Amino acid sequence: NRQFLFRPHHVGMPKSVVAREMALKFNPDAKIVAHHGNIKDSQFGMDYFKQFSVVMNALDNVDARRHVNRLCVATEKVLVEAGTTGFLGQVYVIKRGETACYECFPKPTKKVYPICTIRSTPDKPVHCIVWAKQCFQLLFGHREASMLFEPPDGPDPSVFMPTVNAHPAVGDHKAILKYARDVLVALFNTEIRKQLAMDKYKTARFVPQPVDEALIDANCTEGAAPSLAGGASWKTQVWGAEDCIMEICQCVLEVYATAEAAGLLGSYEFDKDTSQAMRFVAAASNLRSHVFGITLQSFHDAKGVAGNIIPAIATTNAIVAGRQVTELFKILSERGTVAEVCRYTDCVRYKTRRGLLLQAAKLECPVATCFVCNQAIVDVAINTATTTLQEFVDQVLKRRLGFNEPTVMIGDGEVYAEGQDAEDFSSNLPRHLKDLPSGGMRHGTMVSVDDFSQDMEVQVCIHHEETFDPEKGAENFRVVNRRAGTASAPPPPPAQSDAVPPGNGDDDEVEEIEPMPSSSGQGQKRPRSEEKGADAAAPMPPGGGLTKAPRYSAPDSS
Ligand SMILES: [Zn+2]
Repeated sequence: NRQFLFRPHHVGMPKSVVAREMALKFNPDAKIVAHHGNIKDSQFGMDYFKQFSVVMNALDNVDARRHVNRLCVATEKVLVEAGTTGFLGQVYVIKRGETACYECFPKPTKKVYPICTIRSTPDKPVHCIVWAKQCFQLLFGHREASMLFEPPDGPDPSVFMPTVNAHPAVGDHKAILKYARDVLVALFNTEIRKQLAMDKYKTARFVPQPVDEALIDANCTEGAAPSLAGGASWKTQVWGAEDCIMEICQCVLEVYATAEAAGLLGSYEFDKDTSQAMRFVAAASNLRSHVFGITLQSFHDAKGVAGNIIPAIATTNAIVAGRQVTELFKILSERGTVAEVCRYTDCVRYKTRRGLLLQAAKLECPVATCFVCNQAIVDVAINTATTTLQEFVDQVLKRRLGFNEPTVMIGDGEVYAEGQDAEDFSSNLPRHLKDLPSGGMRHGTMVSVDDFSQDMEVQVCIHHEETFDPEKGAENFRVVNRRAGTASAPPPPPAQSDAVPPGNGDDDEVEEIEPMPSSSGQGQKRPRSEEKGADAAAPMPPGGGLTKAPRYSAPDSS
């Protein structure tokens, strides 16, 4: 595990350079070349990958993994892929034509919360934490980018924006407390009453209760915030409404107290490790939970959700790295094909009945509907009359399908290109799909998408669909892969469910938060070899049981 190679005096140096130096101390005869750069840069393209026998991944995000997967598929290089999430990990080997690739199985997507839930109808603490982060941005950060921002020329006059915009004089504590008081009244009383008057909660399970103005008045004081009490217990205690009001006042005071802090107004960004930002979010989310009858949380719990923390565990990384190396030895020994000699290994937290912490299973076969390793066609259902080429490129091609520098062709006509020496098609970006040159993208149009940097060419079949409503939390497109040569069909609508669909929505509209990991091996499916065996009836491990999730789906955090 490379984590163990780094020492305090290495801070600020490229990790690859330090790792090389330290590894050479173990074996001075090794030949190691360190590169410091982004794996998606063109210098690490096809020719770079072609020089290797095997590629070992040690990446920390899905995007880079997809990119390396594509280059290894294109160059037919064996890829040893690995990842960990807390105590869980997995290692497997990818070889084009022999085993499933990284993209043969869909990856779990982040949870997305619809904007209307955040703004008007929260029913979970996490909804209030998302709102509080937006509130922090509205008050101290780039306010126009906040989900709560209401423009002055909007159809419906805002009851809180004029108050938010009436900044107090820097250093004038009395004026600052008055400002905090007015903002609290506007957001937690006036705005709630406005929404109540609009009959938004006629059928609601819980009718929100505005925070009493008298309660706000009584607690807008200096020096009484729970975080000033000393000791560490304020972090684990659940703050009541009064505590939250006092803490919010304290945070506002801190921002406006000095010219230095106030000078940063407009550029504050939420960071869970910045005390003031996290105290504000913990207090504001709790006060909102109070309004909507949602369980209150401690600062500590709010931080866990707000910061989306999954701890990286050095020993898990070391175990997984070790398993990568044993797979490497098997590959280099050439005792058989990759599919024959290599294994998929799950690193689990609790021993199985057989006493195993590492569970090995045969590698999966390539999936026929994979557009990366099997040239499947991608069906995209989308509203071609309202979606612009810019949205199509950003959300469908890059975010969902993982393209790096896509070139888009309708028939023989190029309508978009990226990368070195690419023609400038920026005038097409604001156009709606149906209005593009070469006949536009309409129902049934086949679009070729090429990416030279990944040596990928994919056929995308467009299905026009009128009814997408991002406000309801749905995506504004659907994607499904199909085996080449099979009949064209639009992607089916998602199954009816209360669950919020996984999202690739616009960042400006929704907040994404990873679901909190359970303390058990949840999300890990045991290998098939054990499913029908004695272990199928294994007792539940402490903290929960194993659930049936597809393999190759563990989150990738390390
Ligand atoms: Zn594949």
